[in-house]
Amino acid sequence: MTTTSERPRATQRTAKPEGQWAKGEFDPLNPNEVFKAEDAPLNVRARILEQYAREGFDSIPGTDLRGRMRWMGLYTQRKQGIDGGKTATLAPEELDDEYFMMRVRIDGGQLSREQLRVLASISTDFARSTADITDRNNIQYHWIAIEDVPEIWRRLEAVGLDTLEACGDCTRTTLGSPVASVHPDEVIDATPAIEFIKANYVGDPDLANLPRKFKSSIAWLPDAAPEINDISFVGVVHPDHGPGFDLQIGGGLSTKAFFALRLGAWVPLEEVPEVWLATVKLFRDHGYRRLRNRARLKYLVEDWGADKTREVLEREYLGRPLLDGPAAPTPKHTIDHVGVHRQKDGRNLVGFAPIAGRTSGAALAGVADAMEAAGSDRLRLTAYQKLVVLDVPDDAVEPLLETMRPLGFDGRPSPWRRATMACTGLEFCKLAIVETKQRAHDLVAELEERLGHLDDQLEHPIAIHLNGCPNSCARIQVADIGLKGQIITDAAGEQVPGYQVHLGGGLGEDLVVGRKLRAHKVAASELGEYVERVVTRYVAARESGESFGD
Ligand code: SF4
Repeated sequence: MTTTSERPRATQRTAKPEGQWAKGEFDPLNPNEVFKAEDAPLNVRARILEQYAREGFDSIPGTDLRGRMRWMGLYTQRKQGIDGGKTATLAPEELDDEYFMMRVRIDGGQLSREQLRVLASISTDFARSTADITDRNNIQYHWIAIEDVPEIWRRLEAVGLDTLEACGDCTRTTLGSPVASVHPDEVIDATPAIEFIKANYVGDPDLANLPRKFKSSIAWLPDAAPEINDISFVGVVHPDHGPGFDLQIGGGLSTKAFFALRLGAWVPLEEVPEVWLATVKLFRDHGYRRLRNRARLKYLVEDWGADKTREVLEREYLGRPLLDGPAAPTPKHTIDHVGVHRQKDGRNLVGFAPIAGRTSGAALAGVADAMEAAGSDRLRLTAYQKLVVLDVPDDAVEPLLETMRPLGFDGRPSPWRRATMACTGLEFCKLAIVETKQRAHDLVAELEERLGHLDDQLEHPIAIHLNGCPNSCARIQVADIGLKGQIITDAAGEQVPGYQVHLGGGLGEDLVVGRKLRAHKVAASELGEYVERVVTRYVAARESGESFGD
């Protein structure tokens, strides 16, 4: 007799339909699929402009408020003062504040000084001066009132920015290289592909009901986290066809981490949008829609493998085979572009580290002033919550560094400031269990004090990522020290905010998911002491050339 555990996995999975449209499984199988089927999510834009902004928060029905408004980059933010221990026990409406988090999508992470000034003014005028640089090339505001949304959109659209599909089950902001067009090692600038996709496919109703979100990274250099996106194009030179991109599919972290698989295909720049579109359609049609926690492309790719994924992509969506191609080079470590680096035209790019991406409207306006004084019109956001000023002449570098530091942007940061990231956390996120942003600020200050004497001994900064819940918005699985927020029992037997520790994760050559060490749960109040202990032991015990992950 065959026991349950002996049954092949596929047999167990086919017991229920996964909600794959390609198999004719159109019946909505969960509440999200129901509201998407009842009314197309993009239709909410007209209602925001014509009704909700005029009639106020209370006029917004639940399926728009907690559902379709995400397609416009709007999430309700967490009601202030609710303890993290209560997150799982309260209904969504009990956690809702009457204000929104708003995400502005900045595809490719590229901003002009004029756009930056508009972003700064929106923060000051409508968002209580909040502004976070996210790890997905977005600027995120809080405290947005529905009445102000039309004016915010008007200001954004006047300078070519928007919030369309910045959240929701659709194609999210495309990550690009922060140094596209200026880095000496870049062979092709991928920006035209990113711009084409944004102009032609974002907001297309045909692509606006995906099983869940779809994240993209298109960059010559491997500096836009290609391993953990649904689709990535990474620069590589084909021995016969020249420069193009290595296609990788099915990465993603969340509660279960997968790294993107190479399909073994090489794609020239002009075909990147076509292959991207084909993959989005494959995900739309074949992706699993029954369970939300299996509705990412990575689960389909896990089940199919690289060969079948490529075969379906070519046969059903492209109608032609892709060219085989070599693997893109992998970097030894994270490339964050912090510090002063030479551009290919002889000027400089200068990368700055705000702590965990947090800044303000006033600080962003100060950055625009500093850029103007330095003669720069171009700013880039990175996949590591950092900011890079381009086109800085030699004689303007030091004044720029001096001006930016008091604004919270350090161009010569300590390793602790440089490599600490944090998600939104308890302050504003309805799913959060513990605080993260302020904790990151406190932790950086504490580690600079406790571990400053080791700065010169670290070949590369030790990445510390803080998450407010089991999701992975700050990518805990690929940090040297990943901290997953939860309520823990401390030494005195009290329930306190703390973190489950994951150690030794990384991207690039160090590509590995950090190990979850069950015994390593640390109270938030003891975080500095814990990190000091771990890092001191690593420095004392490592052998030559051994990284933290080793
Ligand atoms: Fe919110 Fe959790 Fe994401 Fe942090 S990791 S922003 S707490 S959902």
